[in-house]
Amino acid sequence: MKELKREFEPYSGLILDLDGVIWVGERPIAEALEAVKKLRTLGKKMLFVTNNSTRSRRDYEKRLRDLGLEVDINEIMNSGYATALLLKERYGGGRTYVVGEKGLVEELEGQGLQVISREECWDNGADFVVVGMDRGFNYWKIATAMRAIRQGALFIATNADKTFPSEKGLLPGAGTMVAAISTASGKKPDIIVGKPNAHIFEIALKKMNLRREEVLVIGDRIDTDIEGAYKAGIKSLLILTGVTSREEVEKSEIKPNFILNSMKELFL
Ligand SMILES: [Mg+2]
Repeated sequence: MKELKREFEPYSGLILDLDGVIWVGERPIAEALEAVKKLRTLGKKMLFVTNNSTRSRRDYEKRLRDLGLEVDINEIMNSGYATALLLKERYGGGRTYVVGEKGLVEELEGQGLQVISREECWDNGADFVVVGMDRGFNYWKIATAMRAIRQGALFIATNADKTFPSEKGLLPGAGTMVAAISTASGKKPDIIVGKPNAHIFEIALKKMNLRREEVLVIGDRIDTDIEGAYKAGIKSLLILTGVTSREEVEKSEIKPNFILNSMKELFL
């Protein structure tokens, strides 16, 4: 790893996916860690952006630091934080019923949203029903969310990934919870924040204080990272260390601007 390849020089900001780019499940990708350190010495602005809303930004900060990367919490955006920023900016705040995990609640409360209990939501409804991945999902959560949405609460999904890869094989993602609540409430989400929707990238650009031409999205999935970047008008780089293979890229209608086998190939 010597110099940055010329074609990547124009980008002063990088939006990096985590799973499939920096690590695969529990296993860190050594070449990617090296590359990030090197990019940092070149003064590139970085924002790690993930659809996973179960962990908070603080959890990610810790995990990245444990891997030897000197990151700041302001360089991390998960779909929960992006949802919180969007709700705060667009609506100022509101009573929020959450179908999701601790990390999501932490991010929403961090931006001043009032997270209410199931009983409170059942009795008095809510302004927002925010749905993310929830490993404690159950019938009464669906029922409470359904009731509030039918009474007029905005239905917000952190993301709609149907599944996600894990060491145990494929597991149900937030999209599975969203689908159940959609079925019961007879309504699709009003807003889906995470990739492949442009929202999360628009929020990311604002956070980085950069124009879209100055930024490159680096991810491992055509149907989330690359498609989302395309919708947001941001150039993209597909890294083949995650779920997408070169054959899949050839079949796909959406193409990344760049493809590399590993982050190492960013450099000469
Ligand atoms: Mg990924």
